[in-house]
This record gives sequence, C-alpha cells and structure tokens, in this order.
Amino acid sequence: MSHDPSAEKFSTRAITAGRPARAADSELNASISLNSTFTAGGPLGYGRYGNQTWSQTESAISALEGGQTLIYSSGMAAISAAFSIFPHGATVVASNQGYSGVMTLLNQADASGQLKVRFVDVADTQAVISSLPGADLLWLESPTNPCLDVAELPELISAARAAKILVMVDNTFATALTQRPLEMGADVVMNSVTKFLAGHSDLLMGSLSTSNTELFTKLENARKFNGSIAGPFEAWLALRGIRTFPLRFERSCQSAMILAERLSTHPKVSRVRYPGLPTDSQHARAVKFMETFGAVLSFEIVGSGADGDRLCDSSSLITHATSLGGVESLWERRRRWPIESPSVPENLIRLSVGCEDVEDLWADIQRALASI
Ligand SMILES: *Cc1c(COP(=O)(O)O)cnc(C)c1O
Repeated sequence: MSHDPSAEKFSTRAITAGRPARAADSELNASISLNSTFTAGGPLGYGRYGNQTWSQTESAISALEGGQTLIYSSGMAAISAAFSIFPHGATVVASNQGYSGVMTLLNQADASGQLKVRFVDVADTQAVISSLPGADLLWLESPTNPCLDVAELPELISAARAAKILVMVDNTFATALTQRPLEMGADVVMNSVTKFLAGHSDLLMGSLSTSNTELFTKLENARKFNGSIAGPFEAWLALRGIRTFPLRFERSCQSAMILAERLSTHPKVSRVRYPGLPTDSQHARAVKFMETFGAVLSFEIVGSGADGDRLCDSSSLITHATSLGGVESLWERRRRWPIESPSVPENLIRLSVGCEDVEDLWADIQRALASI
C-alpha cells in the first residue's frame, strides 16, 4: 500500500513532512542550502526567489495547516506581506486588541491612509459581522494576545466568505493542533513560527498558508520583491523544532490547564484568563471548535504594575522575558511595553507555559507570588 501522508495524525505528519524523497543513501534530513544563486534553467533561479531548505519547512507547515505555505523572516514580515497585497486605502476589519506589533502596524497603516481599519471587539460576533459590509479583509487573531479573547471563527469566516471578503487568521496562539482556519474556509492562515512551531526561542520566522493558488502566487511575488525572506539556517532549525512540536504542545497545554486552575484559587490572583477554564468568559465558545486551549494564560494579580514587575523578577525557574511558545516558561507584565494597549490591565501577567515539570513550575509561581 502506498503511503498517504494526509491520512496520518498530526503528530505523525510533524515527523514525516518535509523530508527528502527516499532513495539509497538519500539524506534523512533536508540539508541547509547556503546559496544566493542557482545554476540557470531551474524553478528557483535566485536565492530571494526560493531555497530547498525553505521548501522543506514550508511543506511541513502545510502538512499541519493545509494549503501551500510561504515562510518569512519573522511573523511581522509575514503579516506585512499579507497586508501588502491590498490596494492603497483598502478597508480592514480587525480586533481592537491583539498582538501589540500588529496593532501598531494597523494603526500606522490607518494613519498613513495605506489601510482603513475598522477596529472591533472580536469576541462580539454581531459587532464583527455588522462591520463587514464594504470591507476588503477580515483579520482575525484568536485567542488574542494577551487577553485570550476567543473569536467565533467558524461563524465569522462564513460571514466574511458570504460577503466575498478575504479572511486571514493569526493562528499563533492556538496552532494547527487546536484549530485549522483553512479547513473552516479562511483564505490565509498566519503563524509566528518563532513561537510554538520552532519552539526553542532561538529564531524568528513567520508563515502564511493558503489553499487559494491565485492568492499564493500574489503572496509569493510579494515575498520575492519585498525581500523579507527567511534564512536557510533558520528554516532548518524551525523544521527541526516542528518535529517535536506536537509533543511539546501537548505537554504545555496540559500544564497550562493545571496552572490556570491552581492560579484561579490563589488569594493573590484576582482573575485568570484561559479559555480552557470552565469559569472563563470565553470557555463556552472555545469548546465549540477548539481542540485544545493552548499553552498561554494571563492572570491579574492583587497588586500594582510595580508588584507585577517584582513578581516576574522574583521567579527562579520561569524567565522574565517577552515572547512565548518555547520549551522554557516565560512570563512578563505586558503593560511594561509602551506599545501595549491601555485596555490591557496594568497588573496582567502573561505566562507562556513551557515543558518543565508542572510541579516545579507551580512551586516557582507560588514562591514568586509570596514575594509580593
Ligand atoms: C509574536 C507574535 C506575532 C509576531 O511574530 P514575530 O515572529 O515576533 O514577528 C504575531 N502574532 C502573534 C499572536 C504573536 O504572538
């Protein structure tokens, strides 16, 4: 019987995808193609147009998200490339809170007239649908960074499609193991590969995946000429990370659930935001279409912003740093960043749960909470 990769479970696909074809003495792993140019006559031509190492990483991401994938030098480069295919002054409907880098980019694009942005509360399904008429793009991020709001993806994607509005979903927090927007009908799914897919906090990369060949060609051309390409070494490292992504993610999601439960009964914590908690305002919606609840949670401490900074500084296992999705747990007070939205509470701590033993993490969190 011939091997059918699309019949495999995702944890298997992460291991089998993006390998060189089998032959006697063929390489098991893609090699790192360090070339700025290629002998004439082939499909690649030049190092800004294509690279064999990128292709292997791209096919592995496609094996998880579906469609065809393009990788970029960072998540923000992927998002900028996605926005760049719209004409000047195009209208975008986007969440009024989400990853601060995207919020900054959208605000800048709106101020310069590059895009007209209609900011909406993405957890308010009717408000999002009401703001769609006449828009060119619905940009969704769910769950949102760092407030963990959940957008009603299946309904919003169908509504945008019915109105012939392109839908793009930032799937960084959820990943393909939680939800697959392309299967729900989205046109493009974006990942900050920097986070869970690569998983070791040692590189930056972004990806866009689409099942629409016309859109793929547009995006590929955009990458060729805006030049925001990934380095071959980063592509190789990311693929190495993807091999263990399902294993890491499963462990981190389990630990995140346990920590969310324990934090929600801690006297120094006033609120925990994690869609997996039955008491969370987003839970009823999340269970409808999310297969896991992710490995990032946010909580508000009983205390000030300064107490939050002290908390993050006083942990010995969890590192006080921005970013998320690595094997090592990280936390930070999001409002320490001037670009973070004022709608994010000053005392909100975002915790990215890594792969350490959950009891060690809990002991560290308890010690740190005792210090404030
Ligand atoms: C980190 C992040 C990005 C940006 O990705 P970079 O790789 O840092 O450029 C975009 N969206 C979300 C939700 C993120 O967490």
